[in-house]
Amino acid sequence: MRLIIIGAPGAGKGTQAVNLSERLNVPHISTGDIFREIIEAGTHLGIEAKSYIEKGLLVPDELTISIVKDRIAKDDCKEGFLLDGFPRTIPQAEQFDEFLDNNDIKLDAVINLEVLDDVIVKRMEGRRVCKVCGRSYHIYSNPPKANGVCDFCGKQLVIRDDDKKETVLERLKTYYEKTTPLIDYYEKKKLLLHFDGTKAISETTEEIMERLLKKQVVS
Ligand code: AMP
Repeated sequence: MRLIIIGAPGAGKGTQAVNLSERLNVPHISTGDIFREIIEAGTHLGIEAKSYIEKGLLVPDELTISIVKDRIAKDDCKEGFLLDGFPRTIPQAEQFDEFLDNNDIKLDAVINLEVLDDVIVKRMEGRRVCKVCGRSYHIYSNPPKANGVCDFCGKQLVIRDDDKKETVLERLKTYYEKTTPLIDYYEKKKLLLHFDGTKAISETTEEIMERLLKKQVVS
């Protein structure tokens, strides 16, 4: 199964993507996580990506697309994938479609998680992420079992640099300018499924699974 999950920063894409990739047994591919890994590794591309990410801007399309194509070409994506945070612009979506067509791959659905801005700003202030496995928590709504420690790998939880309030507002602006046109783009292709991202995490996961079943994406 080949899925994309879109939504504003802080809408819960990463959290839902982790749940769904476990349930559907497909790799979770987060461009944000890939960028954070190459930044941590200090590569040339990482240094370039960091200069955009820390300002709340998007990494240029060319670099982002080549990273996604390389990742999708790996063996574990043969049976499917769940893309989280990509595409984020119309040129990314168009070039990705061309890549999929050339490789005879069809998308099954695009999941759109909807959350209002004021909820997003509050969420991002309390968000903590695991430095190692990338899992997200929230100090109030989805706390880890032990304070500041990841439930899954036991490593330290941190506040992402780009979760500072000014950067969050910039990221939201970028989202409205560059990413929201994708809603129309995928609606026209009859791939879009809308979900209320303000419900409890597990409730939203169940709703998504149910809709995917109805769309007969899941057998
Ligand atoms: P995320 O973890 O998905 O919120 O991504 C963190 C940051 O990485 C974003 O604010 C962007 O700066 C960058 N990024 C992630 N995915 C993309 C993408 N598809 N295109 C451009 N930049 C991206």
